[in-house]
Amino acid sequence: MNQCEACGRDLEHGYLCQGDTLALAERLDRMPKLYEALAGFLTPAVHGGAEFVTVKVTEANLPVDEAVLDLRYGGIALVLEGRRSDVQAVRGWGQPAIEGSVERRVLAAARWLSMSLEWIAASYPAAGDLAREVREMEGAALSIVGALPDRGRRIGQCVAADASGVVCGAVLRHRSGETSLVCPWCTCVYASGDFLMLRTLQPEGAS
Ligand SMILES: [Zn+2]
Ligand SMILES: [Zn+2]
Repeated sequence: MNQCEACGRDLEHGYLCQGDTLALAERLDRMPKLYEALAGFLTPAVHGGAEFVTVKVTEANLPVDEAVLDLRYGGIALVLEGRRSDVQAVRGWGQPAIEGSVERRVLAAARWLSMSLEWIAASYPAAGDLAREVREMEGAALSIVGALPDRGRRIGQCVAADASGVVCGAVLRHRSGETSLVCPWCTCVYASGDFLMLRTLQPEGAS
């Protein structure tokens, strides 16, 4: 019997439970967006435009800027690439080529790891370390940029039909705190009590 390296739950086999694998997949998916968002935090928050060169940047700005620099130039790309390279080594594969801008490197490494998650969860003994590193990196980046916009939880497709019987089909998302949601296409309103009904009415193959 194994245990999940991230949460300690008992596992039949492998190194990461399903929940932690999914959480890691979502974090890897968000990482390039987070990396982009960090760019907006590179300049000191307070400066005097043209006078900038003569104004001494206050000490208080420095820790934030250094954290952004660490995460952008090196940080995220190096951590993800380091893990990718380790996974490839454990699998007996050659080393990945590292090329392009840091943006591209973050995207490439995050995507590669994300596509390899099934193998990582099942067969990579350091999967828990990878999950922890990605979670901590995301936490550090979020502490600088604030939360990424909440896209909401996918509830399903809009089941409202127009006069001719054509079903709307727009994807409905629910953001935490909202008590009802409005279909973005047909503006039909669903109260939170309707969500369950909505689920049962989903067309086959959609969820
Ligand atoms: Zn777990
Ligand atoms: Zn609709």
